[in-house]
Amino acid sequence: MRSVQIHNGHFLTLSRGEEVTSSIQEFCESQKMHWALIQAIGAVEDVEIGYYDAPSREYVFIQDDGPFEVASLSGNVAELDEEPVVHLHAVLSRADRTLGCIGGHLRSARVSLTLEVCLWEVSQPLVREFDDETGLDLIEL
Ligand code: ZN
Repeated sequence: MRSVQIHNGHFLTLSRGEEVTSSIQEFCESQKMHWALIQAIGAVEDVEIGYYDAPSREYVFIQDDGPFEVASLSGNVAELDEEPVVHLHAVLSRADRTLGCIGGHLRSARVSLTLEVCLWEVSQPLVREFDDETGLDLIEL
């Protein structure tokens, strides 16, 4: 991973083989960046992506080898128990002539070519708290 500071955050480039979620998480921890918005584009493979199933209160994931174009990746960094937590969603299009898309909550993905990530720092606290009704750690404003 390479990074450069920009006017209100950081621009990162991830290289082939790097895992997306843990790389961004480790960067935020190292920079003590607890509140931010995330945007990225690039290409990934070996993905785990899914959704939160409200009735069972559990995430459901599928695995797919890909490869995919990252048509859109967005997310945020918010604090839970005073630690930064990276939350990512993505729309991934198949790198074949179908360009069929899958999308949802991104648990993990490996960079296949490059990933260009922008982390925009948020100046006000974004803090997650457990919500009994949904079973999720929601951002409390
Ligand atoms: Zn999610």
